[in-house]
Amino acid sequence: MCGIVAYLGDKEAEPLLLEGLRRLEYRGYDSSGIAVLNGGGLELVKKVGRIQQLERALASHPLHGSLGISHTRWATHGKATDINAHPHTDASGKLAIVHNGVIENYGVLKKKLAEKGYSFRTETDTEVLAVLIGFHFDTLDTETENRLEMAVMEALREITGTYGLVAIHQDQPGIMVGARRGSPLVLGIGPHEHFLASDVSAVAAHTQTVAHLRDFDVVTIDRNGYRLKSLTHNKAGLEISRIDYQAADTELGDFPHFMLKEIFEQTISIQNAVRGRLNIEESTAQLGGLNLTPQEIREIDRIVITGCGTAMHSGMVGEYIIESLAHVPVEVEWASEFRLRNSPLDRRTLVIAVSQSGETEDTLGALREARRKGHRVLGICNNVASTLARETDGGVYMYAGPEVSVAATKSFTSQAVIFLLLALLLGRMRFLSGTQGKEIIQAIEALPDQITQILKQSAHIRSIAEKYRKADSMLFFGRQMQYGIALEGALKMKEITYIHAEGHPTAELKHGIIALVDEDTPSVFLCPRDGAYDKNSNNMQQVRARKGPVIAVATEGDEEIHQHADDIICIPAAPEYVTPILSVIPLQLFAYHMAVILGRDVDKPRNLAKSVTVP
Ligand code: GLU
Repeated sequence: MCGIVAYLGDKEAEPLLLEGLRRLEYRGYDSSGIAVLNGGGLELVKKVGRIQQLERALASHPLHGSLGISHTRWATHGKATDINAHPHTDASGKLAIVHNGVIENYGVLKKKLAEKGYSFRTETDTEVLAVLIGFHFDTLDTETENRLEMAVMEALREITGTYGLVAIHQDQPGIMVGARRGSPLVLGIGPHEHFLASDVSAVAAHTQTVAHLRDFDVVTIDRNGYRLKSLTHNKAGLEISRIDYQAADTELGDFPHFMLKEIFEQTISIQNAVRGRLNIEESTAQLGGLNLTPQEIREIDRIVITGCGTAMHSGMVGEYIIESLAHVPVEVEWASEFRLRNSPLDRRTLVIAVSQSGETEDTLGALREARRKGHRVLGICNNVASTLARETDGGVYMYAGPEVSVAATKSFTSQAVIFLLLALLLGRMRFLSGTQGKEIIQAIEALPDQITQILKQSAHIRSIAEKYRKADSMLFFGRQMQYGIALEGALKMKEITYIHAEGHPTAELKHGIIALVDEDTPSVFLCPRDGAYDKNSNNMQQVRARKGPVIAVATEGDEEIHQHADDIICIPAAPEYVTPILSVIPLQLFAYHMAVILGRDVDKPRNLAKSVTVP
């Protein structure tokens, strides 16, 4: 959460920082700010609201200088106000920092500093860190060569919590110091310039050469280059890599919103998740990154999938797919719960952690807990250089390209298709026949065209959204493989439209939820032609008998469904285990169109931010 961009080079910092912030705005957007160092000292502008507000303020008060830091905030401590926005300064006003994360012991530190006579202007945890670094800076001899670096390291030794941070100081003008623990920070290396940013997207337009800081790394950048240290005294060393990332990937193109662009990209992102991973000859999947021998794969007798939000829902779909195709028992656990509880795992249990960004704090907590106890953890993530990718024993990348919209869409279908590949692999090593393997492969290969068919109904789905635009509340129902989709459909709806929405296993309707049904509350039923069809149509009748409008996501060619539903969205006929990958798409479009109709900020819904890196 939150975005950091810092620049030291031979160009004007302000336009580069603003451009980077715009690319990072999806990470947090309640306020933003920028500080630049030049001959005249430290200059700072910060504003509550979107980055446009900051741009407006800077238009009348431009900042000149070739060293600067900037931030777009997702508040954890203190309201979104001008004063609470970053950068924060120390008592002298000469030091400024931007920070992503949470300083957990800020209360104690604040008290200690107050006893020393320091006062505070903001409600944030970050200001306490700024004042603490300033305190150490001021106690160091003015001749100390690495004064800012030493002050930052001293301060970080006193804090508990998480940070990605960058500090600058007026008395050490050609230097910026970055550090990370728990919140990503990337060093971008250009010919005569360096960047520090919380996400490669902010630097990709300027350099393809990057290095991802690891926890406890401290990097000091000056006009001649950079130097790395570590707070834990482990041997520090950065791995420099080239990013395969086009800045255009994070541009809208002809689409009005990133969410719509990403929904439409699913025909491609699915193929990217599958490319090179099918073994046609053997009718199975090949997932080299798992780092497991065939014998180890055969020995797995239980899988625990863990994640948060949309990733958790894809795990629920994965549970049904793996159990039905490979007969390996699967449990799905909220990462936030799993990390704290004493979940019994044994030697043959495989833990799979799922996170688009690979930086989700709760998911990282869960994977660390499992590894601490000696269990093998695989990761499914999109961000190749993420912490999750580094800390797991193996895994599968989604290769979905950057997902900018806060509401996840293409990452969900990529995760689901990866679970399908895993199920195929596990199944073929157990009892699935070659013929069954072949059928699964054909079903996977048919997906892009089938998704295209669904996307063609976008205008029809919009008209359904129009019809129900006045709804205050919506219900989503699905059974078996569709249950996770009901949860995901409801999540999309609430995330971006703010309409109250609940997802439930269909049969639960009778056990309480039916009390919510009335003529103003639409119910969305996921009811493809599968073994549960008759049961689902019964439930639809129960809702209609109480005047509840019914929207059905049903299989193409199903004539009977007209008797049960007021509105119908069709998905192509497909085997049960791929149907969730199809049925989620109408729900993504439904939420999207509803949000547009209601005038919501689709890509940046209130209170949310992409990639939840705080506990
Ligand atoms: N905890 C800090 C604040 O509330 C940083 C939040 C962020 O990561 O944006 O200002």
